[in-house]
Amino acid sequence: MTDLLYMDECYLKECEAIVEEVVDDKIVLNKTVFYPQGGGVPSDTGKIICEGQEYKVSKVKKEDGKIVHYIDKTVLQKGNQVNCTIDWERRYKLMQYHTAAHVFAGTLSTDTGALITGNQIELEKTRFDFNLETFDKEILEKQVEKANTFFGNDHPISISYMLREEALKLPGMVKLAGAFPPSIQTLRIVSIGKNGEIDTQADGGCHVANLKEIPKIEIIKMENKGKNNRRVYFKFVEKSQS
Ligand SMILES: [Zn+2]
Repeated sequence: MTDLLYMDECYLKECEAIVEEVVDDKIVLNKTVFYPQGGGVPSDTGKIICEGQEYKVSKVKKEDGKIVHYIDKTVLQKGNQVNCTIDWERRYKLMQYHTAAHVFAGTLSTDTGALITGNQIELEKTRFDFNLETFDKEILEKQVEKANTFFGNDHPISISYMLREEALKLPGMVKLAGAFPPSIQTLRIVSIGKNGEIDTQADGGCHVANLKEIPKIEIIKMENKGKNNRRVYFKFVEKSQS
């Protein structure tokens, strides 16, 4: 089992590791800083260095329960010692968008009872799918306004662990329906706000440490795909040059 360093240290940019398995251009490591694609978040990219030779990591995926790194050459061997570095600028942007998505989901579901049915993070925008009886631009604008009162301000984010059965007793703990297979007994809990009052979720992703690090958001587009599939896109507001 690969040790997933990003779970407890979201700001870790590199690590030393040992190659445990090689199949063509795919390698498995004993530990990794690379986040594998999942939960609506794209994977990290970056590089692996072995004996002065550099290999590009183009994507990282979960395959058959393993974390698989796709590299651009196939000469690595089992037992090789490597240095892994993620593309930090990309990761940080994804962490910002992913954390912002938590806050938006938290306020939306608290205020309207909406359930999040899907979420896709990108580098320039994020997409949100949810169910909501009345799909009204004003309601969503109000939610964006509310989320924006948190962004840029001092609200810490913490990570803890909880037994699955205890966690699922708490209301609103798993907003993304069906996200966690029963085989996972201990859930990683991400809490935003001093007591998790802004959002508390069972979640395996990477987040910033404080909402101070998140810019304000704005809606780019709304789509109505039926009562159970409302869709909204938002992006960060660019700071004006003035
Ligand atoms: Zn998350």
